Amino acid sequence: MSCTSLKTVANNIPESTPGEASKTSQDTIKTGQGQPPKQTQAAAQEKNPCDDLTGVSAEEIEKRKKLAYVNKTPIPDSHCSNCTLYLPPAKDKPCGGCMLFKGPVRPEGYCAYWAPITN
Ligand code: SF4
Repeated sequence: MSCTSLKTVANNIPESTPGEASKTSQDTIKTGQGQPPKQTQAAAQEKNPCDDLTGVSAEEIEKRKKLAYVNKTPIPDSHCSNCTLYLPPAKDKPCGGCMLFKGPVRPEGYCAYWAPITN
């Protein structure tokens, strides 16, 4: 394929916004196709106490959203438990914390501010 042909192909790719991309996912959720039953989803969320944000203020929840915190890192070698901003769990507690926001943090979590521990 020539360079001109590639440009033609590239120009014909429909543009989509993130909102449009998630629209398809939303449609799938609405129809229930490929989704586990709601009870199963709720049970899965109840299993990990580090996902329980009860008592965490809306402001702090917003902070974790702005930092793009996720419960499971997309980068295997970069996760909260090897981040310099991670606060390890107190004795006999399952969840750690983060210096940047309040609330429970999973050791296997991750956010855009991950920074390696340097010793
Ligand atoms: Fe986890 Fe991000 Fe906090 Fe580091 S800064 S502990 S990666 S939430």
